[in-house]
Amino acid sequence: MDVEFGVGPCDSGLCHRRESLGNCPSRGKLSAVVHLVEHPLVQDILLELRDVRTPPERFRQLAGRISVLLAAEALRDLPTVVETVETPLGPARGRRCSADVVVAPVLRAGLGMLPGVMELVPAARVGHLGLQRDERTAVASQYYAKLPPGLEDSYVLMIDPMLATGGSAVAALDVLSRAGARHIRLVCIVAAPEGVALVEEAYPEVPIYTPVIDERLNDHKFIVPGLGDFGDRLYGTT
Ligand code: URA
Repeated sequence: MDVEFGVGPCDSGLCHRRESLGNCPSRGKLSAVVHLVEHPLVQDILLELRDVRTPPERFRQLAGRISVLLAAEALRDLPTVVETVETPLGPARGRRCSADVVVAPVLRAGLGMLPGVMELVPAARVGHLGLQRDERTAVASQYYAKLPPGLEDSYVLMIDPMLATGGSAVAALDVLSRAGARHIRLVCIVAAPEGVALVEEAYPEVPIYTPVIDERLNDHKFIVPGLGDFGDRLYGTT
């Protein structure tokens, strides 16, 4: 679906959909939908996550909170069935979520988003994806994958907080697609134009939910300004 750059809220009113990116090397070629989640609470948490003074304990708490908000946005079109319950005063019709949700964290940083998403969707099944990048070739390859069976009709939330080069995101999407997943959304906390472009090129049908698209990658493939190494900040391994 083609949408305009940064204009108007998407259906939720909480985020914007955009088609092309200011500094992106592939500018003009992009087609998939990026949902920029501009909710003030999301942006407030993001700022504190970026702050170099935020210690790991607080970082983990904030990672959980922002993940709840982002996942709620990414799952806003979950199918529901109409159901009636009895309140103390009589029957009330409502909607109950009927979809199977699978959360797929990309190790290790994606684990920081998992508790928040599970709080939101406690019945979700979880599939872990381990990818490592060859430092010389920069090619990402899978070293671990444990996915629940029967992903064809599941709503799969792939969670990977830093969408940098996009190499590991595309490798993870390859694993999920090979396992049969058809409804995948990618949720991240900071994205780089290069990563968005690569995912869009390889998987134009996969929507990306992110609070921000930062300026660029540096020579070490870190997002600038970004927030540093997410996994290190999460686990205090710096
Ligand atoms: N992974 C991170 O943790 N941070 C970056 O900036 C890029 C990749």
